[in-house]
Amino acid sequence: MTTKAPWSDGRLCYGGDWNPEQWPPEVWREDVALMRAAGVNLVTVGVFAWSRLEPEPGRHTFDWLDRVLDLLHANGIRAALATPTASPPPWFSLRHPDALPVTADGVRLTHGSRDTYCAAAPAYRDAARSIAEVLAARYAHHPALALWHVHNEYGTTCHCPHTEAAFRRWLTGRYGDLDALNDAWVTSFWSQHYSDWAQVGTPHATQYLANPGQLLDFRRFWSDTLLSAYTEQRDLLRAANPSVPVTTNY
Ligand SMILES: [Zn+2]
Repeated sequence: MTTKAPWSDGRLCYGGDWNPEQWPPEVWREDVALMRAAGVNLVTVGVFAWSRLEPEPGRHTFDWLDRVLDLLHANGIRAALATPTASPPPWFSLRHPDALPVTADGVRLTHGSRDTYCAAAPAYRDAARSIAEVLAARYAHHPALALWHVHNEYGTTCHCPHTEAAFRRWLTGRYGDLDALNDAWVTSFWSQHYSDWAQVGTPHATQYLANPGQLLDFRRFWSDTLLSAYTEQRDLLRAANPSVPVTTNY
């Protein structure tokens, strides 16, 4: 069994997401047999598996993923192993309500779907690094591992107090002082002049057209925030095994 990446032999990588944690293990062998028949040589696993990998805070259950990766390896199929940080488990949301996202309308969202987290909340970032670290420690040298798939579809925004504080820090770094920010955002228009940093927030829902400078800077700031959430995972995955590629998706 080769341990080279699927693309290293010139073959096209062919496959897709596989979510075996969502159905019984008895089906897995049939799944893999069908993959082989279809010529699949690479599958993404674990994208939304955080609650199955860490059902309680700090208690990890890797037995099922061990079986999945061993089964793939035995069948010559490589894995793009995901860090599951796009969807924290219910226990995380209950324990850290301040890490639940707030919409532009000021509504604090609750658990029940996917992507329900705030990338600027320290508790979320800590938990995300933690689960990525334990995955790296366990699987960085697994023979089925072709690459790491960090998170999934970065993009979810937030307007919570953590985000607003981080936005003000980012703006301070960009403009230095409020005079420069007032100039850049042309706040002489419509009585928007800021006299204290505490008055500066994220672009919440507002009465009429929002300040375009504020909107643009919020997008720049959030891009930087998501990029830092990605790179901190990338760096610890690379540290565990520098030869394994790391990527993400949109
Ligand atoms: Zn937030």
